[in-house]
Amino acid sequence: MTKNNFRRSLASIFAVFTLAFSLAGGAGIFYPTGAQEPSPSPTPATQAVNKIELHQALLDLTSTWTLMCVAAHPDDEDGTTLTVLRRKNGVHTVSLFSTYGEGGQNAVGPELYEELGVIRAQETMKAARIQGSEPYFLGLKDFGFSKSADEAFRFWGHDEALRRMVLKIRELRPDVIITHHDTTTGHGHHQATGRLIIEAFDAAADPKRFPEQLNQVKPWQAQRLFVRIFGGANAQKPGGQGEPEKIVTIDPNELDPVRGTSFAEQALAALQQHATQGPWPKSMAEMLRARRIDGGKLPPIRYRLIREGSGASPLPQNATTPLEGLELPQASEVFEPDALPKIDGRPLTDFVDQPDRVLAALVDWRASRRPSESSPKDANRFRLFELRSNHALAAASGVSLSLNSRADVLVPGVDTSFSINLSNASIRSIHVDELRLDTWGQTVRPETAEDLLPDTETVVTVDRTTPKNAKLTVPKEEHLYDDFFLGQRLQAVATLEIDGAQFSVSSELALDVVPAVELKKISPSPCLRTEETLGRCTLLNVNLANHVAAPFRGTVEMSASSYPNVHTYSVRHQLVLGPNEKRNDTLSIRSPLPDREMLPDLRRSGSVVVSIHRLDSTDLITQRTVPVVYSAARVVPNLHVGYVSSFDETLKNSLAALGVDAKELTVADIQKGELNTYQTIIVDNRGYEAHPELIAANSRLLDFVNAGGTLLVFYHKSNEWNPDPNRHRPQLAPYPIVLGDERVTDETAPVKFLMPRHPLLNVPNRIRQADFTNWIQERGLYYPKEWDAHYITLFSTNDPGERTLKGGLLVAKYGKGTYIYTSMVWYRELRAGVPGAYRMFANMISYGHK
Ligand SMILES: [Zn+2]
Repeated sequence: MTKNNFRRSLASIFAVFTLAFSLAGGAGIFYPTGAQEPSPSPTPATQAVNKIELHQALLDLTSTWTLMCVAAHPDDEDGTTLTVLRRKNGVHTVSLFSTYGEGGQNAVGPELYEELGVIRAQETMKAARIQGSEPYFLGLKDFGFSKSADEAFRFWGHDEALRRMVLKIRELRPDVIITHHDTTTGHGHHQATGRLIIEAFDAAADPKRFPEQLNQVKPWQAQRLFVRIFGGANAQKPGGQGEPEKIVTIDPNELDPVRGTSFAEQALAALQQHATQGPWPKSMAEMLRARRIDGGKLPPIRYRLIREGSGASPLPQNATTPLEGLELPQASEVFEPDALPKIDGRPLTDFVDQPDRVLAALVDWRASRRPSESSPKDANRFRLFELRSNHALAAASGVSLSLNSRADVLVPGVDTSFSINLSNASIRSIHVDELRLDTWGQTVRPETAEDLLPDTETVVTVDRTTPKNAKLTVPKEEHLYDDFFLGQRLQAVATLEIDGAQFSVSSELALDVVPAVELKKISPSPCLRTEETLGRCTLLNVNLANHVAAPFRGTVEMSASSYPNVHTYSVRHQLVLGPNEKRNDTLSIRSPLPDREMLPDLRRSGSVVVSIHRLDSTDLITQRTVPVVYSAARVVPNLHVGYVSSFDETLKNSLAALGVDAKELTVADIQKGELNTYQTIIVDNRGYEAHPELIAANSRLLDFVNAGGTLLVFYHKSNEWNPDPNRHRPQLAPYPIVLGDERVTDETAPVKFLMPRHPLLNVPNRIRQADFTNWIQERGLYYPKEWDAHYITLFSTNDPGERTLKGGLLVAKYGKGTYIYTSMVWYRELRAGVPGAYRMFANMISYGHK
């Protein structure tokens, strides 16, 4: 039988989108199938039970605890402790993230901000799959690096952030909460999250706090709150004397006998899923080397107990899990370890090699349970236990349900064919009590076989029309904060019976709801207009997809206007797409000739709306708006610029907006090319990290400067730049520059001009204070801490209350040319279309040329 092949191929297609039941029942919250094990390899039907999955499902029956790990950003979670507690102890583990991490950096692609947030959420789901945990998000905005909790609360709103965290605690009802974050160290988001969880621990239990939530949830008192102890100063108990410390110590090095790897190795595999935040160690050996740990073992993970719920049982001395010694908060008739089924007096986990015996034991146990048990006092814990029992029965019987769709997206008004595959790999006959498909709040119960014989499967096909008014889930980045970026969820549930034991299995699918023709991506956005490009065509690269299996005939219209709508002009192109065709088109719109009268209009910011209509119809299929920004930036004439880009197209787009003749250079071009055909060469931010081979070719760049060129180098991290013999990295600048780790994170921090008459600040554009307004995220990072006397510094700036940093832009004459190093975040401002940044950028690339 090919059941497993079939399931695996579909599972891989929908890997990210296949979802399981939410155990915790939080509205709108779900988690990837990740909490379960990966599908088994294709095997003969008699061995179709996945022993690892079965072991986990049986272990899960032995625990009714929920542990929550609270973290500020994806990758701040304690993946090791989450892994140990689920994989070794069967604890229900959840992680709760304050943000999606969209303000961070992206080491593997061009996406930033909300697009990055979508990717980081998906990375987190993949990591959680390995940890066996469920991720949840508070959706607070990650506005970039912050130095204090107060700054974080100014953006988030303290009460709103607390409200969201309290709601999640009341929904997920953790018995124990752990966090890496204290209230005083590190990133402001970390400190703020550390403060919030202490407040939320108490507030969640207090019915007077956020009483409006009590319509949907009940107050919840978690029993223990722990904060991680990282060596050094933090290892001392805050406050000092008095009661002895209450510490729990977790060993990450222990071998997982079921999977044959250590829990630390599994946690490392999970950490590697956060690829945008890499590079991560590729192996345990590399991690131990990087952390300079001898002896091949990671140090123990230690947590300090900082808060307890009233009546919580004391943490025993030498505890090795944060749950040790806990007692159920409410007398529970549902869960008594003694009442769990056993074989010959031994736990079922000892018998994963004999799934038929396990199944028999589970069936007898399930069939004999009294109906009174379905109305327990601790309903959430009971529900979790029921789901785990269902899963154990499914795992032991080798029964599986999968919901799949013929199309990979849903289009409003269009039919989609779903298949529900129910297979039985056990040696018993299974009665199908009910099969259900839930879509858009409607349930259909398709006809299916009443009995599923051993070693058979049944496939049911259901056609459903996506409602005309179904909410679109794309562009995903526009739905980061409403959860729709994960798609529309659909669920199939089968209620089954084996010898009087009833249980259910479910499968979820999440698909994007897209317009019939989608404008997937438009670039550049924002679109920049400068003096050089005022009267030229605006070119937009448009990524189109016809999502319907029929040809599309229509029009694409571009309509441009300035703010306020003084002037509007538009152009309409024919658009013909084949069935399911995906294509990249370049669309152009030419502004009217910039006669004198119209110039003021064209020098305003505005927008271009791109819309798609069906032929002979006014029906709008979809539209997207691209902001148009004007910057009064000029460059010197006949400038030829070469650039080495790192992670995105910002340099390419910015140079095009300035009307500059520019060419992207590879490292091979730097090594062998005729660099003297360029006046200026730019190394993009973190360029020596993105292209390590550039280090060996660096002397060619310095020769280029010596011969009269201008070399402009954007920011690098200190550990990517400072000379390091171990990495064969010499000083990269012609005269020494040593980077530190200081940042200016306030994007409104005042910028002082140290040499207002310096040509770099005056030619061709006279730089003014106004050019530093409307910046985003920050001023700069990894500021130089030492530099050679050959450099001139042009700007100083500082975060409120901090010392002034002067190294944000260093310029030096070298031979006949000029070397400029700048740790200010020009790339962010150029990408966001900040007009003043374009003016200074134009000066930097023009510098030294007439
Ligand atoms: Zn973080």
